[in-house]
Amino acid sequence: MNEMASSRMTPLLLVVDDELVGRIYIEKALQSEGYDVITAENGQQAYEMAKQHSPNMIIMDVMMPVMDGYQSCVAIRAEEDQLKVPILMLTGLDDIESVEKSFDSGATDFIVKPVNLAIFKQRVQNGLKMWQADLEIYQQHMRQSHAYGIAKMGYWDWDKETNKLYFSDEIYTMLDATREEFSEPRDLLDVRASADDVERIKAASGATIKHGIPYSIEHHILRPDKQVQIIHHHAELIKNKQGQVIRLSGIMQDITERYLAEEKIRHQLYYDSLTDLPNRTLFHEQLETALTMPSRVTDGLAILFINLDRFKNINDSFGHDVGDKFLILLANKLNQKIRTTDLVARVGADEFALILEGISSIEGAEHVAKNLLNIFTEKHTLDGYELIITASIGITITSPDNCDKSVLLQQADLAMQHVKEVGGNQFCFYSEQMVSGAYDALIIEKELRQALERNELRVFYQPKVCVTTGKIKGMEALVRWLHPQKGLVSPYHFITIAEETGQIIQIGQWVLEEACRQTKLWHTQGYDDLVVSINVSAKQFHQQDFVDEILKVIDETGIDPHRIDLEVTESCTMTNIDKTISILKRFRELGIRISLDDFGTGFSSLSLLNKLPLDILKVDIAFIRDINEQGENGELAKLIISMAKTLGLKTVSEGVEEQHHIDFIKENGGDEYQGFLFSKPIPATEFETLLESNNIKLTSDRVASTSFKTMMKSI
Ligand code: C2E
Ligand code: MG
Ligand code: MG
Repeated sequence: MNEMASSRMTPLLLVVDDELVGRIYIEKALQSEGYDVITAENGQQAYEMAKQHSPNMIIMDVMMPVMDGYQSCVAIRAEEDQLKVPILMLTGLDDIESVEKSFDSGATDFIVKPVNLAIFKQRVQNGLKMWQADLEIYQQHMRQSHAYGIAKMGYWDWDKETNKLYFSDEIYTMLDATREEFSEPRDLLDVRASADDVERIKAASGATIKHGIPYSIEHHILRPDKQVQIIHHHAELIKNKQGQVIRLSGIMQDITERYLAEEKIRHQLYYDSLTDLPNRTLFHEQLETALTMPSRVTDGLAILFINLDRFKNINDSFGHDVGDKFLILLANKLNQKIRTTDLVARVGADEFALILEGISSIEGAEHVAKNLLNIFTEKHTLDGYELIITASIGITITSPDNCDKSVLLQQADLAMQHVKEVGGNQFCFYSEQMVSGAYDALIIEKELRQALERNELRVFYQPKVCVTTGKIKGMEALVRWLHPQKGLVSPYHFITIAEETGQIIQIGQWVLEEACRQTKLWHTQGYDDLVVSINVSAKQFHQQDFVDEILKVIDETGIDPHRIDLEVTESCTMTNIDKTISILKRFRELGIRISLDDFGTGFSSLSLLNKLPLDILKVDIAFIRDINEQGENGELAKLIISMAKTLGLKTVSEGVEEQHHIDFIKENGGDEYQGFLFSKPIPATEFETLLESNNIKLTSDRVASTSFKTMMKSI
């Protein structure tokens, strides 16, 4: 009804009187003032017309049939909202009682009959002015209330003097409560907020009153429908002119939606969209936080990197859908295995990272790692497929001396890489050797490039001895690196790297030339039968022009090809078997011998052994080393030797360190051996001395020297 009244250009007045004359008299008087007028004959009619037309003012007689002015007044007021229409009562009864009764019924003013027109007009004008003022306040209030509604906000006020707390309607609406339920606002908070939150609000307001600093806190409200609301609460002090605190005034705002939106964004930032596990960002943040707490570091934090082995195969074979589902399944299983204090994150496509708390011992971490490995090795059924996967787990543990985030991450990663290198499906703790290993590899690669130019490589020779006669039949050429700082470096430290980088081709070529040159020299000195064994790596062997290279060396050094023995490994012969066989055949046509090195340590395919054109089988140190004095643990060595015999091959047994090793080899029909017992690999000059003492020269020179020695002995 207010809207109709407030939007009118000309005020509409309702005149209510049962007496026709009086009614018309007032009507005309008002019309002459420029107002629009409507009339009613009794209180009932007035009530209905007020409802229908929303007049800007009502001028109403008291004494009327059907419904008197008082009753009508009460009825009209009952229909109204906050903005009240001014009601001017016309009373013929100039007594205090009827005036009071008029006000009690809701009238705003009264005037005594018979009406003094001048005063009457003045009263009407005043009434309308007051209504206009009320209207503006009301509209202001409504605008504010609307704005509060949009902002989901309400205000409150606490009066220090009276200790009265007031909540605006918006707060009640916001918290889904009514004034009837909670006439005392404090009760509303007590019921809907947790005891802790109520205490926090009290403490915050207490501090504001004491120190004058505004407070802002956020707390929860539990609505009757069990929904949780997040409320932002802000309050400030209000002081009088004398600077005394008179009230505390604040707002409460429902920020649930904003909070949820922020939560959603936070979730997207910190969680993996596929598995819903924490992502790399959250993992890093959590680790950083954990590392800033000395007690957690001392109690031991284990950092685990898990990388799925060959996960690509699952995607390739079953499709990405199955791959994704499998990742979700594994993520859930991982999450179930850890404690609530631990964290598992997905940090890469097929990589997870964990932070485990309170793991101070290797055993503790080992226990968890074993459990985790089991998750993977279980058989998983998904979309009708049975999937099996393994994982590589790298682990590192913090200590007060080892708590740098990037160092720890590097350690866990190195350990995981290490597991990958040895085939996966294991866990491994970080150790310092891993760093030096990784570091060395880079340095070695760089320095090795210069080693050849600076002439730092050497060839050492290890004699190969006849089992029955004890005479030197030949020698294996073994490369050494005379490093300017490190001294003599074993091939174990650089051959693999050289193979990876391809430097082995150059190194192998140099060894070949050097060994052939040296051997030819010994031949010319009278040791004509010496056979030099030269190790050939797979890369070198599969070079386009390897045969030509050998021919060139033979040509340049003048060595007899029958005195060359090339040691090839099983892995070397595995690639492109037909081509390998044809190259080997070509060598044998030239008179060059072929040995199969490291037999039994690799793939060991017997059918392959049968196909390859070979001369010698080298029995690896692994089969000789464990043979004891009683000849036990020699079953495999025995088998290999007898197998070689069946295939018409000679054998050279490696790693002979004990006399009983020789006895065993002799007993089982082995031909030659090499090992520390006779001699370690030695430089050419020392080898020469050994040759001399071994008494194997064939030429006259040898005869002379022998006879000289015999002579000396006999003297
Ligand atoms: P390999 O060809 O199996 O060589 C035999 C290795 O056993 C040599 O190690 C030798 O010193 C060692 N050895 C011999 N007798 C004994 C013994 O009684 N006890 C023990 N514990 N060890 C013994 P080395 O010289 O360190 O060479 C290691 C490996 O490096 C060689 O194994 C070979 O695979 C590779 N290698 C060495 N020189 C060359 C080369 O010029 N070219 C290529 N491609 N590889 C080479
Ligand atoms: Mg060898
Ligand atoms: Mg060997």
